[in-house]
Amino acid sequence: MRRGRELGAVGAGGDLFADGALGSRTAHVSQAYEDGDGCGHGYLSAAQVRDHLLDCAAHGMQGGFHAIGDAAISTVLDGFAAAARTLGTERLRAARHRVEHAEIMNKRLIAGFVEFGIVASMQPAFDRLWGGTGRMYESRLGLDRSLESNPMGAMHGVGVSLAFGSDSPVTPLDPWGSVRAAAAHCNPAQRMSVRAAFAAHTRGGWRAVHLDNEGVLALGAPATFAVWSTPAGVERGLPVLLAEDPENRGPADPTPLPVCRRTVLRGDVIYEEGSS
Ligand SMILES: [Zn+2]
Repeated sequence: MRRGRELGAVGAGGDLFADGALGSRTAHVSQAYEDGDGCGHGYLSAAQVRDHLLDCAAHGMQGGFHAIGDAAISTVLDGFAAAARTLGTERLRAARHRVEHAEIMNKRLIAGFVEFGIVASMQPAFDRLWGGTGRMYESRLGLDRSLESNPMGAMHGVGVSLAFGSDSPVTPLDPWGSVRAAAAHCNPAQRMSVRAAFAAHTRGGWRAVHLDNEGVLALGAPATFAVWSTPAGVERGLPVLLAEDPENRGPADPTPLPVCRRTVLRGDVIYEEGSS
């Protein structure tokens, strides 16, 4: 942990593996895979999670875990509960620890994220690529449980802090595609508004690293922004990302996405379309 401090890390976590991945059937799930043997693998015990969180608290660091399957997420939450018994829930919440992916969830697990103030670092493109009938989540888990995957709408609805990303190179860097994927979730009950998804993909990432005032355009704030052209138009200050006809919404939505023209970092132009 001291090494992490010396290196200037904002946290001790990221992909600290509590389990594997669904593609290789190594994500730790509570019921056996439909298309393979066993329930995957958990690589951490609740006691290890607890000890990591206590160590993080001793060094004032944020912790984080990669957890995809419901069994792995459950183990991580057991570790949080154990750490809370030592630290108190408020102190644990203040550290704003994170879970990466949080794919196979349920109501009890979502309640744990709320209780411990855990930031869910999620990838809407996973739903676009693997959600829905006949896709990977269904073949691995069956239709009913696949519908419980990546429940960003429900999590946002109960106040879980979301930070969106691509998990690049697992999915391509495509922020507007991710915003759209969250707004056009395969499970209509999990759809977020474009505005809420946009916030999760901008401010949400900064909030996840405790920089609560970044990620917005404001007078006096650092001039860090991107300029986009919006071929489908703008509605209430945000680009139109969704097809007018709800039938066309979803993974194959034909609406053209915004194109980046310029990127400015703290006043310096670092990307300009057409210049090399
Ligand atoms: Zn990961």
